[in-house]
Amino acid sequence: MLRTIPVALILLAAGISPVAPESGYAADGESREHERHTMVESQIAARGIRNPDVLEAVRTVPRHRFVPESQQESAYKDRPLPIGHGQTISQPYIVALMTELAELKAGDTVLEVGTGSGYQAAVLAQLGVKVYSIEIIEPLAEQARAALAATGYGDRVEVRTGDGYAGWPEHAPFDAVIVTAAPPMIPEPLKQQLRIGGRLVIPVGQSFQRLLRITRSETGFEEENVLPVRFVPMTGRAQRG
Ligand code: SAM
Repeated sequence: MLRTIPVALILLAAGISPVAPESGYAADGESREHERHTMVESQIAARGIRNPDVLEAVRTVPRHRFVPESQQESAYKDRPLPIGHGQTISQPYIVALMTELAELKAGDTVLEVGTGSGYQAAVLAQLGVKVYSIEIIEPLAEQARAALAATGYGDRVEVRTGDGYAGWPEHAPFDAVIVTAAPPMIPEPLKQQLRIGGRLVIPVGQSFQRLLRITRSETGFEEENVLPVRFVPMTGRAQRG
């Protein structure tokens, strides 16, 4: 079977040190399409993700270009990875699950709270939606902007530095809001920025967290309890009660 050899290994074998890009994120090197296909089959479709558009988006977005150079070899493994500043890129299955739960179609507008690496935002953009994403840690927001621009998603994702607790009212209402850090309680502004029929996908809790989907109707909000999860805490205003 033909196997591609990571560029960094080729360079090391040739006695050349790979140079990390300025952003600290992985250089392109190769597409690693085969690894993505395996990841989708064995980690994502195998666990019940069925939406063909979501599966195709995860097959397409080069996850290895959203992780630091030191994590590049692990980019398609079944786990979250460190991205610096004590934060993580979520496990691929969780990204696919949250994307599927958001029930998006091309042309929709989505708010993401917790840009992190930018990978979840890129998967959303790959579906043809416009993404507004907020990250509280400035250097991560900068790295994510760079990775999104380098992978061709820069036009469809706007990244802002700040506390996502209050949402992004200038661009509301949203078809979906995806939160990738866990607040102790659901921030009310995020519910209020959903359009009627819009979905909020959010992990909630502290030592015990649940992934919830909240759907806004004409008369209120319907809550579905999806599964127990473990996310980094949502910092800022969410921690002040
Ligand atoms: N979606 C990310 C990805 O694809 O890499 C995963 C991000 S990580 C699990 C959660 C992110 O939420 C961290 O980068 C963290 O700094 C950010 N975060 C935590 N609290 C926040 C807040 N109040 N507003 C915005 N971002 C926040």
